[in-house]
Amino acid sequence: SSSSGLIPVTLFPGDGIGPEIAESVKQVFTAAEVPIEWEEHFVGTEVDPRTQSFVTWESLESVRRNKVGLKGPMATPIGKGHRSLNLTLRKELNLYANVRPCYSLPGYKTRYDDVNLVTIRENTEGEYSGLEHQVVRGVVESLKIITRQASLRVAEYAFYYAKAHGRDRVSAIHKANIMQKTDGLFLKCCREVAEKYPEIKYEEVVIDNCCMMLVKNPALFDVLVMPNLYGDIISDLCAGLIGGLGLTPSLNIGEGGIALAEAVHGSAPDIAGKNLANPTALLLSAVSMLHHLNLNEKGDKIQEAVLKTIAEGKYRTGDLGGSSTTTEFTKAIIDHL
Ligand code: NAD
Repeated sequence: SSSSGLIPVTLFPGDGIGPEIAESVKQVFTAAEVPIEWEEHFVGTEVDPRTQSFVTWESLESVRRNKVGLKGPMATPIGKGHRSLNLTLRKELNLYANVRPCYSLPGYKTRYDDVNLVTIRENTEGEYSGLEHQVVRGVVESLKIITRQASLRVAEYAFYYAKAHGRDRVSAIHKANIMQKTDGLFLKCCREVAEKYPEIKYEEVVIDNCCMMLVKNPALFDVLVMPNLYGDIISDLCAGLIGGLGLTPSLNIGEGGIALAEAVHGSAPDIAGKNLANPTALLLSAVSMLHHLNLNEKGDKIQEAVLKTIAEGKYRTGDLGGSSTTTEFTKAIIDHL
């Protein structure tokens, strides 16, 4: 921690509605007296040759130094000769696991009111290795890479997470009956790690069956761990179960204990600058970050205030059917702290 005794945290307000929802997080954190200080970083207006991206080297250094950060949505700049912002962050910080807690928000009615699960997605390889080519005209090939190292790493994190958060089951999601070698290796690694955690139940669920179970009875699941493509799809499916991407927090775990929290939604250019954005996803991402920092009491307090405000229903933003502004909703949360 810094000389002030506060924990330094890198903050990327991001684009579009990013600065508005980041302001909301800053105000709530100040009101809750969270012992952190923000180190704000902005996406550059020119490509930084050291990162080949609009994300500067200094920004990456800030996250590496602090090991913890919060990121608002970033609009993808159009044009050639640079790497996408999210890809740069993922590659440079080696963000290998994407963690999305999904729980029903009391008072915000969806089809189910008992969802309480966490998806943990391998984020560096699998079907998203970017190895696609044409073999001959009319025939293309895409390589799915699964390594023992990356599979063990994400499985370790899933069991560590389950234990640290008092959860009692980890389900590995796969299609090893067809993808025998790749998903087979993924499962083998999950089993090896499971043996080290006898107190946590371990099961394997085939992805198609998992989809059916999730839409029929999501309460059947606790912690789910899976390769990249399955994780991409299942995590959005789960977000849909609780009301959509505007409410879902996420946390990216990187090498060396780095954690970068981010809302799942984009920069919402249609409502940017109008004080209409819902800051819930970024706030709950910031709460995930506080739990990662072991500031559990502060995290719980903020989460409770957000949930209470939504449940009460007096102040809700437009996306949840209300007519409150971002600042009115934020003030209501602060009043609930
Ligand atoms: P979007 O998520 O920005 O918007 C989709 C719809 O959801 C819009 O109608 C928007 O108003 C609404 N919405 C999203 N977040 C909201 C919030 N917090 N409160 C209220 N309403 C909200 O998706 P898009 O329009 O496809 O993408 C816009 C830009 O964001 C693009 O440049 C895209 O590349 C970028 N993007 C960035 C990330 C990221 O940084 N992680 C993720 C997705 C998209």
